[in-house]
Amino acid sequence: MFQSQEVFGCGGGGKPRRTPPRRTPPTPGGSDCFAQICSSNPSNQIRGTDRWGSGAYGAGRSGGPTQRGVDIVCAVSSRVYAPFPATVVRKLTVYSSSRHIGKPYNTGLVLRGTGAWEGYEVKMFYVEKTVGDGRRVNPGASVGTMTDRASADPGMTNHVHVELYKDRKLMDPTSFVTC
Ligand SMILES: [Zn+2]
Repeated sequence: MFQSQEVFGCGGGGKPRRTPPRRTPPTPGGSDCFAQICSSNPSNQIRGTDRWGSGAYGAGRSGGPTQRGVDIVCAVSSRVYAPFPATVVRKLTVYSSSRHIGKPYNTGLVLRGTGAWEGYEVKMFYVEKTVGDGRRVNPGASVGTMTDRASADPGMTNHVHVELYKDRKLMDPTSFVTC
């Protein structure tokens, strides 16, 4: 069972903010940045701060560990896209706590990078996977549908939580998300 870092809440009622523009384009494995992740958010806007915390990488969570990814604002029922060329690995369960067990939003998926993104892996939370395991997808290909994560926490801004790993080590995806 996958234990989320976000047992204590991962959302925001606050106004989403744009992060400042980056100065240097990232070149992970020689590739470009992430494709658009959510059909209702063309700029990959990251959730701003609210009483639950911030959508930024490493942001605190009251009574819990820090946030291990970034939160990409995403409206319910939006299509969710692969950020880079990848193989669909599996579905995941976000929370193991009883409050979330069996809820439609308690789901996500794992993608493993191919080509220039070999060695990278991404976990996307609150997304209902719509493609089969083992499928190869291009950046921007639809891989799922955004659930209603906010239904469990009134005032939350719905978002896809995105965790990036390189050679199985967690890394900060921010520079790949907002370039
Ligand atoms: Zn999050």
